[in-house]
Amino acid sequence: MIRIENLKKAFGKVTVLDGIDLSIEPGEVVSILGSSGSGKSTLIRCINGLERIDAGRITVDDFDVSNPKELAEARKRSGTVFQLFNLYPHLSALRNVTLAPVEVLKRNAAEAEKEGRALLESVGLGDRADAYPAQLSGGQRQRVGICRALAMKPRYLLLDEVTSALDPEMTAEVLEILADLTGRGTTMIFVTHEVAFARSISDRIVFLDQGRLLVDLPCETFFAEDGGMANARVAQFLSKMR
Ligand code: ADP
Ligand code: MG
Repeated sequence: MIRIENLKKAFGKVTVLDGIDLSIEPGEVVSILGSSGSGKSTLIRCINGLERIDAGRITVDDFDVSNPKELAEARKRSGTVFQLFNLYPHLSALRNVTLAPVEVLKRNAAEAEKEGRALLESVGLGDRADAYPAQLSGGQRQRVGICRALAMKPRYLLLDEVTSALDPEMTAEVLEILADLTGRGTTMIFVTHEVAFARSISDRIVFLDQGRLLVDLPCETFFAEDGGMANARVAQFLSKMR
């Protein structure tokens, strides 16, 4: 579904992604781990066409994201949730969820609203549909953000540290929603510092180090002493996280 070949990206003279090869199959849940600054967010932004790439190729369902026309097709298939609460402050929770389906996908407004309410219901926000972002807690806002991504019926979801700005209780409520999603066959690429959670939901773990893809292993192998842990950088990273 997503194929990345020899991806390179620099900001000025600083190489941030240095020859990444990664393929993701439909339905796979892949977590990307790595220290701060290793290039995880940049990788997500490249997949989404938010950064121009310097070399290599990224395709989503065979659409080349470097080509503006094909990028539009690729984006129709994706939903992205970022670390910061990037909801529209002047729109209700429900309107935040229905905006793109109506404006971008040209869905019928009443139908989009019905589905939007059902989505909010499914994340425990059925009674908060008319609240504005400022009236919601951080965890609630992030749950609205997830609904907004899901409202586009994406074939894959990109999630970049969606819980890192939340306190432990809110983190738990958002992770629970995400764990539910993994059972439904949506392809997910998940950047996270929640190592235990990544271990519990992922099919595969990818470890980035200084812009290079150091390890790409099935989840259980990644955490095995003679698997990912045999890599000194991975072992060091995990020892700090625990
Ligand atoms: P991560 O998400 O793993 O913490 P990032 O992808 O955000 O890492 O950043 C990787 C490197 O790229 C860092 O050194 C960061 O400072 C740099 N970087 C990211 N975005 C930009 C930008 N827009 N301009 C310049 N440098 C950037
Ligand atoms: Mg990041």
